[in-house]
Amino acid sequence: MSDKAKLVHLDGSQGEGGGQILRTALALAAVTGRGVLLENIRARRKNPGLARQHLCAVQAAAQVCQAQVRGAELRSRWLEFIPGKPTAGGYRFDIGTAGSTTLVLQTVLPPLLVAEGASQVEITGGTHNPMAPPFEFLKETFAPALARTLGRLELELLRPGFYPAGGGRIQARIEPTAPGPGIQWTEPVRPRVVLAQVLLARLPRHIATRELDVLRRKLRLEEDQLEILARDDAGPGNAVLVHVQAGPVREVFVGFGQRGKPAPRVAAEVVQQVQAFLQARVPVGPHLADQLLIPLALLGRGAFLTTRPTRHTQTNAEVIRRFLPVEFSFHEHSPGQWRVQVQCPSEEPSG
Ligand code: AMP
Repeated sequence: MSDKAKLVHLDGSQGEGGGQILRTALALAAVTGRGVLLENIRARRKNPGLARQHLCAVQAAAQVCQAQVRGAELRSRWLEFIPGKPTAGGYRFDIGTAGSTTLVLQTVLPPLLVAEGASQVEITGGTHNPMAPPFEFLKETFAPALARTLGRLELELLRPGFYPAGGGRIQARIEPTAPGPGIQWTEPVRPRVVLAQVLLARLPRHIATRELDVLRRKLRLEEDQLEILARDDAGPGNAVLVHVQAGPVREVFVGFGQRGKPAPRVAAEVVQQVQAFLQARVPVGPHLADQLLIPLALLGRGAFLTTRPTRHTQTNAEVIRRFLPVEFSFHEHSPGQWRVQVQCPSEEPSG
C-alpha cells in the first residue's frame, strides 16, 4: 500500500479541538511512520489554524523525521505530514514569539525516544505560558514519570520567557532507554504542599511578597517553604508555582501574573487549584493525566488514579487510538477519583 493510502485522517475540531490534537498527531505519525492529514486545525480556539507555536512544532517534527509537509503556513487549517525515520541529534528551534517551548518539546519527544541514540534540543520562546506546562512541571512532574516508561529527559532552564516578550530558552537532553517498570499509581494518596515559589522577572519585589503572603496563610506554609526567584535578564513576567508531593508524584501547579490583575488574586487562583487537588487524594493531576497517555500508550501498559478526566485527556486518548493498538478505560473509582488504564487489546486487565 502507498504511504498516501495509509494516511490517518484527523478532524482537528473533535473533542477539545485545540493544539494537542495536532501535536499528538505529529508525534505519533513520526513514531509510527504513518502519514497524517489534519483538517479543521484548532477549530475550537479563538484564533484557529496554525499559530507560531504550532507551526514551529510542525517544522520541528518534520526536521526530526525528515517529513514531507504540505499546508505548513501560518493560520493554515490543514496539514499533510508524511514522516520519514526519526533521527537522533542536536536540534535548535526558535518559535519566534512567546509560544510555548515545552509544548514544542513534547511534540518531538516521542520520535526522539524511539530514535537511535541521545538527542540535545534547544528551544527559544515562552517557558511560562498560560494554557501550557510551565518549565518546572515538565522537569519535576513529567520527566520523572517519563523515566518509568521509555527514556530519560534532562532539562535546563537557560532563560525564562513570558508572554508577550518571549525570549526564553530551554535545553533538553533526551535519551531513549529500555522499557522501564511502567506506572501503576492506582492507590489513593495524602498529598502535601512542599514548596511555593514566585518567579519574578523585571517586576517590583512587593508583587512576590504579596503573593507568598496569600500562599503562606491559605496553604499553611512555613517560611522555609517559600521562595522568590527574581531575575532581571528576562521578562517582564510573574509566575506562582506550588509544588505538591502526591505519593510517588511531584505535581506542580501554576498561576500567572497579568497586568491589571492584583497579585493576591493570582495567588488565590493557584490556591484554589491546589486545594481541589489536595482534596481529591489522587497521585496524578489533570494535566499530567493527559500528558501521560502517550508514554503509556508507547509502553503498551499503565494505570493511574486521577481527578475527573478532562476533555484534553479524552481527546488525546481518541487521537492516540488512531495510531497505536491500545485501549484506554476511564472508571470512577470513588467520588472524585478516576482510574485511567492503558493496555494492549490482547492483555487481561490487571488489578
Ligand atoms: P492545547 O490546549 O490543546 O494546546 O493543549 C495544552 C496542553 O498543555 C495540554 O496537554 C495541557 O494539559 C497542558 N497544560 C495546560 N496548562 C497546564 C499546566 N498548568 N500545567 C501543566 N500542563 C498544562
